[in-house]
Amino acid sequence: MIRPTLYNKFFFLLTFFISLSYFYSQKKFTIVLDAGHGGSDIGANRNYSDIGSVQEKNVTLGIVLKLGRMLEKNKDYKVIYTRKIDEYPSLTNRTDLANRSKADLFISVHVNSSPSKSATAQGTETFVQGPNQNKANLDVAKAENDVIFLDEKDKENFASYNPSSPESLIALKIQQSKYLEASLIIGGLVEENFVKKDKRMSRGVKQENLHVLRMNAMPSILIETGFVNNYDDAHYISTEEGQQAIAESIFNAITSYKKMVDRNVKEPEPEKPVEQPLKNDFRILLMSSPNKYTTEDSALKGLKYILTIKENGFYKYYYGTTNYASVRDNNLKTAKDAGFRNSMAISFVPNQTLGSSSYYTIEIYVGKDKLDSKSNILKTLPEIIRNKENGTFYYTYGKYKTLEKAVKAQKDFESKGITNTIIEKKSK
Ligand SMILES: [Zn+2]
Repeated sequence: MIRPTLYNKFFFLLTFFISLSYFYSQKKFTIVLDAGHGGSDIGANRNYSDIGSVQEKNVTLGIVLKLGRMLEKNKDYKVIYTRKIDEYPSLTNRTDLANRSKADLFISVHVNSSPSKSATAQGTETFVQGPNQNKANLDVAKAENDVIFLDEKDKENFASYNPSSPESLIALKIQQSKYLEASLIIGGLVEENFVKKDKRMSRGVKQENLHVLRMNAMPSILIETGFVNNYDDAHYISTEEGQQAIAESIFNAITSYKKMVDRNVKEPEPEKPVEQPLKNDFRILLMSSPNKYTTEDSALKGLKYILTIKENGFYKYYYGTTNYASVRDNNLKTAKDAGFRNSMAISFVPNQTLGSSSYYTIEIYVGKDKLDSKSNILKTLPEIIRNKENGTFYYTYGKYKTLEKAVKAQKDFESKGITNTIIEKKSK
């Protein structure tokens, strides 16, 4: 569901979203349409006694072909398909095609399926790239160095583009955050049309670290058009009428989005500032609880990118990391939409060293029983510290003066097979 606050953000966001490649070269607005799955990869599927077999690969192709036909009627658009028939291009083929085509927009169409047999999950959702500025993303943009289209202001700051210079890395990060903002806009428009025009249930716009979103150097969205294991959804997405309605909603969203881009490029408002990164990092505090949850626990309501910090016996669950105000605000909205009504943005000073009486340690294991001396943990970390409180054993390891070092240590443990660890802040 899209709330009015997103609209207020549009005008601000658009001042720093640009699509100069498209503007300067007067080339057509290029859209890559990606029908999910195909060929031997059927995707999500289900058999029904009345409507027969509903297969994701057929639904996605049906919607994409209908959408493509609508777009091709307008000569301003160039449409590129990752597939037009029942075949399976690999995920890398799909993103390579999009990057090579210097596309302005990437739209991937999929069908959802919920793990439970109960089929209570229903409706649409749209994914954009994850909230963390991730390395894979930057590497893609770096490899495609002529993909760097900065606006006038950025060009002054990063005039000499050299892919390996630190300044250029900052430029790339700015570019990535622009793609994310643009993806949030188009994703919001799609979900809004599903709700308002098609009277569907929307599960909102979410962030997820998916290949087709991560490896693209352009605004990209992945639309889950309905649940194959929900009877009403399955019926809707498998009919010509349902697919046509879905295609129209996506088409209308693309049209509105392109209008925004055109308006922004042709009528620049120079007095509005380009978004600058903030000094501090921001994470969304979801909740503080005496209970330890793993990322798969339903208490975290499906949110990913969770950092847990234990302090005074309470586990604090944080979502996302960013130093952009707009991304922070969106992360907060995602948290509230997920049901964390009291969540709030907390600022962290990057690489802040704790005072002499405090340090971070890693809580490796908590349990009623002692760890076996032959366990992977004790073999890997023989100097681990064991404490017993109220009949529970707590194993902790290491002392770190900054949160970043503790996070790095946690990642190292993960690579050694020690998972579900928690960072704990301790005062002597
Ligand atoms: Zn799929």
